[in-house]
Amino acid sequence: MARWARPALSAFRPWGPAGWRSLYTEVTDVLGEGHQGPSPGRTDMVATSLWGVKKAPCAVELAVLNSGITGGRRPISFSASASSIFGSGGNSKKEKLLLQDIAELIQARACQRVVVMVGAGISTPSGIPDFRSPRSGLYSNLQQYDLPYPEAIFELTFFSHNPKPFFTLAKELYLRSYRPNVIHYFLRLLHDKGLLLRLYTQNIDGLERVSGIPASKLVEAHGSFASATCTVCRRPFPGKDIWADVTVDRIPRCPVCTGVVKPDIVFFGEALPQRFLMHVVDFPMADLLLILGTSLEVEPFASLSEAVQSSVPRLLINRDLVGPFAWRPRSRDVVQLGDVVHGVERLVELLGWTEELQDLIQQETEKLNRRDR
Ligand SMILES: [Zn+2]
Repeated sequence: MARWARPALSAFRPWGPAGWRSLYTEVTDVLGEGHQGPSPGRTDMVATSLWGVKKAPCAVELAVLNSGITGGRRPISFSASASSIFGSGGNSKKEKLLLQDIAELIQARACQRVVVMVGAGISTPSGIPDFRSPRSGLYSNLQQYDLPYPEAIFELTFFSHNPKPFFTLAKELYLRSYRPNVIHYFLRLLHDKGLLLRLYTQNIDGLERVSGIPASKLVEAHGSFASATCTVCRRPFPGKDIWADVTVDRIPRCPVCTGVVKPDIVFFGEALPQRFLMHVVDFPMADLLLILGTSLEVEPFASLSEAVQSSVPRLLINRDLVGPFAWRPRSRDVVQLGDVVHGVERLVELLGWTEELQDLIQQETEKLNRRDR
């Protein structure tokens, strides 16, 4: 039996002002002029490393980041109805919120800057196994490659020595053409109604895009197959360029320097995508945080759940009670435990969106049928 040794993770890549400037342009595009964005001077504190680090260390850094970078800390001005529900303005009445209350807040548009965080639990209903789980069937398909441990597939050193297992996994994902499920389409509906501020996903299956949510509303924290980069000359390529090779088990090569072209999936120790830094603007602005299908174990993603203001309701729909919901609950937390699909369907029902969601799913399914024909 192989010993599953988790690789040591180190890279905390500092961010220079240049990185911020380009991100800042994007942020101001989204928010409009006059928004006080993050200060470029503080960006060297940003920790953007990845995957598999369990819990805490980044919590502190993110707290520093959120108090530091947001600087002036503009208070969020809630609508009158939201203020009364949130109990701001000295109202000390702290009633426990229920799922019904969250639905009412959304219906009343007292919450209209919803930030969503999702993980593998929203993709398993689409038939996609959790990549990081050594028990998932995916890894057993890769035994022929003698992976020293499952996570090696997402390690740069292993990849540079043998990129085959990773591309086998990529091919599997591509050929099976997985489809979004009711959870993805619920998020799409949230966007269609103008309520989605941003969707932060840890998934690399791209189903959020397939569901029709525009890339501008997404932060794919662990990267995606939508783009690729030459590992030698760093030349960027559209993600679709690799599939002709990958589907016939050929390693995609750069036409300029013949280096291996790697999809922009974030490997262990690699920096998170630049867009991840949007969290410093998004989370303080959020008026509702939805967390769906994630164990909140991977940093720095996990600590984001604490980056919304303390008066902001947080709704966790997940199989288990996880992360800060377990060890540092807040008075405005709502927890819907059990099957994630059922939890989301329950919320949709309380919102009165069931029929609308069914129509959307039907319409999008027909579109995908035409695509796959
Ligand atoms: Zn190249």
